[in-house]
Amino acid sequence: MKLYELTIHELRRLLAQGETTAAEVTASIYERIKKLEPKVAAYLSLSEEIAMEEARGWDKRGFGDKTKPLAGVPLAVKDVICTMGIRTSCGSNILANFVPPYDATVTLKLKQAGGILLGKTNMDEFAMGSSNENSAFGPTRNPWNLKYIPGGSSGGSAAAVAADECIAALGSDTGGSIRQPASHCGVVGFKPTYGRVSRYGLVAFASSLDQIGPISKDVTDAALLLQVIAGYDERDSTSVPKEVPDYTESLVQGLKGITFGIPREYFVEGLEPEVEKAVREAIKTLEELGGKAIEVSLPHTEYGVAAYYIIAPAEASSNLARYDGVKYGHRDREGKTLLEMYRRSRSEGFGAEVKRRIMLGTYVLSAGYYDAYYKKALQVRTLIREDFLEVFKKCQVLVAPVAPSAAFSLGSKVDDPLQMYLSDVFTLPASLAGIPGISVPCGFTSEGLPIGLQILAPHFEEGLALQVAYNLEQNTDFHRRRPPL
Ligand code: GLN
Repeated sequence: MKLYELTIHELRRLLAQGETTAAEVTASIYERIKKLEPKVAAYLSLSEEIAMEEARGWDKRGFGDKTKPLAGVPLAVKDVICTMGIRTSCGSNILANFVPPYDATVTLKLKQAGGILLGKTNMDEFAMGSSNENSAFGPTRNPWNLKYIPGGSSGGSAAAVAADECIAALGSDTGGSIRQPASHCGVVGFKPTYGRVSRYGLVAFASSLDQIGPISKDVTDAALLLQVIAGYDERDSTSVPKEVPDYTESLVQGLKGITFGIPREYFVEGLEPEVEKAVREAIKTLEELGGKAIEVSLPHTEYGVAAYYIIAPAEASSNLARYDGVKYGHRDREGKTLLEMYRRSRSEGFGAEVKRRIMLGTYVLSAGYYDAYYKKALQVRTLIREDFLEVFKKCQVLVAPVAPSAAFSLGSKVDDPLQMYLSDVFTLPASLAGIPGISVPCGFTSEGLPIGLQILAPHFEEGLALQVAYNLEQNTDFHRRRPPL
């Protein structure tokens, strides 16, 4: 096995036994990155010098400290998460030169745990998108087929993990941006409960939905990373002061006594037959492992896309008002008046999709339309949340597809935003409800593109989602396959 192929837990074992060094592993990953980046384009920036220095530091200090569970582990971080002294562009021209003066809480936690930051990964501009094609710096490509999108908006992180250009990564999920790219790239992606992980230092898209989570090569690594980043943070008023359980305890074999809900509304027209087949196979495997499947209904599912694409742009239009060229970000030098400077800075700095969201958002929040759109969408959001609360009285977890299709080809949906939005149909409801959801590999299409299974759990029951995902993973070998790069 190559060093860059290792998972966190495998690498940690080898480091502890002295069979490799952090410097060796880090160097092997940078070599891999240099070889593959011309094809994959998963990274927007690399911090090789600092990383190598850190790695050598860990090799000197050793790997015995139990409070440093990531010591010597090279990781990638989505470019929407602030990293002190390292550019954080959000995939946008408006932040193309922004170097944060502070670390996000999760960045700090990774560092404190001993993690080594390899670089920042590509993404749809301000995390708005499902294909990575909205990045101002060009799209990342799917390692399984370079003509296909990796998913979005955390496409860079997912592709980097799939291509072994990092050991694991962080992404962010507002409406599916961790789960969908993980599914399309054949890796594990876990969006925790809203409030489980601090958003401090995560550049805001839609603050009532944004959540950071792990993207990894297997479920064990997802548990290990979540363990490090989860927990209350006084710097984020929406982070929840709730004890963080030991997630590795969830990684147990067997599913006796677990009832899965199979939501009828997630198996409808538009779901590609190959995806449905792989998901149904996975459900069969889970049943063989002792779980019991029941059909359930989440009746407001069909309104999820509409509600999300009102609420998220509304919040975005407000959050993105801060980019005015004054304190940071791109500033136009030609404008003669203050207003002209604002207008020109924003017109030049933002891409088409971001502008579309800002316009949609300001429209639905405007005096005459607020009640008809924004308020209605919030009411629908409550109904969607209640659907989940109701259904979780009958089952512990829900099992469903992540996306209606496998990855689509580059360029095939860029001119049709509605088609693009519809690809989020199965990930948006969990985001609106704030519940945790994991994507775990469950098959491949006949073309060789990965398919993910989505497991949703009640608020703060991350452990249950991990347990079910782990059982599927340990009884299949999809996560062991490597893309033909
Ligand atoms: N694809 C969705 C959007 O464009 C979700 C993005 C996300 O989760 N950040 O808004």
